[in-house]
Amino acid sequence: MTFHSPLIVPRSEHRLSRADISENALKVLYRLREGGYEAYLVGGGVRDLLLGREPKDFDVATDATPEQVRRVFRNCRLIGRRFRLAHVYFGREIVEVATFRGSGHEQVAGERRVQNGLIVRDNLYGTREEDALRRDFSVNGLYYNIADFSVIDYAGGLEDLRAGRLRLIGEDPEQRYREDPVRMLRAVRFACKLGFDIDPACERPLFELGHLLGDVPPARLFEEVLKLLQTGLGLCAFEKLRHYRLFARLFPATDESFDREDGGVSITFVSRGLENTDQRIREDKPVAPAFLFAALLWAPVRRRFARLLARGMVANEAMLHAAADALVRQRPLVAIPKRLTLPMREIWSLQPRLERREGKRPLRLLAHPRFRAAYDFLLLRAEAGEADAELADWWTRFQAANGGVPAGTTGAKTRGRRRRPATRKGK
Ligand code: ATP
Ligand code: MG
Repeated sequence: MTFHSPLIVPRSEHRLSRADISENALKVLYRLREGGYEAYLVGGGVRDLLLGREPKDFDVATDATPEQVRRVFRNCRLIGRRFRLAHVYFGREIVEVATFRGSGHEQVAGERRVQNGLIVRDNLYGTREEDALRRDFSVNGLYYNIADFSVIDYAGGLEDLRAGRLRLIGEDPEQRYREDPVRMLRAVRFACKLGFDIDPACERPLFELGHLLGDVPPARLFEEVLKLLQTGLGLCAFEKLRHYRLFARLFPATDESFDREDGGVSITFVSRGLENTDQRIREDKPVAPAFLFAALLWAPVRRRFARLLARGMVANEAMLHAAADALVRQRPLVAIPKRLTLPMREIWSLQPRLERREGKRPLRLLAHPRFRAAYDFLLLRAEAGEADAELADWWTRFQAANGGVPAGTTGAKTRGRRRRPATRKGK
């Protein structure tokens, strides 16, 4: 690896101000410095502040080892297997402190293991330069130095920020994706979040390397998919994932079922679901991940359901089978946890039940704990032209007549995961 001397931009020549950094992150930076260590704000915090955006959280990098960090802070825990990190706790806010990570050239301590070009364990401490150059995108590789308030740029991140360009650090983008295929999903996420263009050399491999996602643990992919689809970027992310043919790697059965004649579901259905979710997040309303994943997997569920019905199976049973089948197929790719698959199954199995309006059935359904989410799901289906609009309207009126709640609040009654509160005060 060639080492560059960094561009150092003094305090007077950049817009990053201490007033915009959370008090707790500042405390961590100052305390490390008082302890005789180097301390920098890094990653998305620096990037977002330089763009005038509000950071989601603040990450700190230091030359202190995790054990040394722990000695500086009482309110601190060491976490992580793949990377050992220190978490410093301030009530609900966590400041993540990472020791400079190396590239293997100047081993300080720790270890790194690579299997088939994939980094599986990476605890190699390094220098600030190495730490910068192992990061994913140039705009994520900027350091704010608490010692003199300068911004340090090893990889052309400042220029890329100005140009609105997302560029992987290093000479060989393909190798960077191979090291960690999740970077492909991060490329999509940051392109959507920042509205940046992906540099052509970094964009090309996205079309080719989707299969590498198969090497990523399904639980990690679930976390990434959640960040892609549930942080207000859902529709953009969905469109880009499809464009780069990555969506089919994550949800192959869904991708195959789109717009098929035999009971297929339209892309519009998923797009609408994501659009509604994005809208709710913008309005700071809670969103239910189960609802979203139920929508994402609805295409294969519905297709299988239709086939089983055609074979003469009764609706309730067919839906149970179709749901189980879709979930089993999905599991090895993106591991959707039980806390979501249970409500997902209920949302699906209530769909055929919503079609039966005779006798006391509707009143009983109204009392079902998952009724609200199932009704919202029906509304979404109706919006996408995939369910009878008359049926959806009937349920809307029926609820109103029975003291129900107003329509169109997708997933509102299911327990949603609130977005983490912004840690920064003011704007
Ligand atoms: P945000 O928090 O807004 O989602 P972020 O850039 O802070 O964006 P994090 O996932 O919090 O993203 O990671 C913090 C930093 O760690 C990144 O900015 C980047 O420098 C580095 N990083 C994270 N994931 C990777 C990765 N897979 N490969 C290389 N560097 C990474
Ligand atoms: Mg971050």
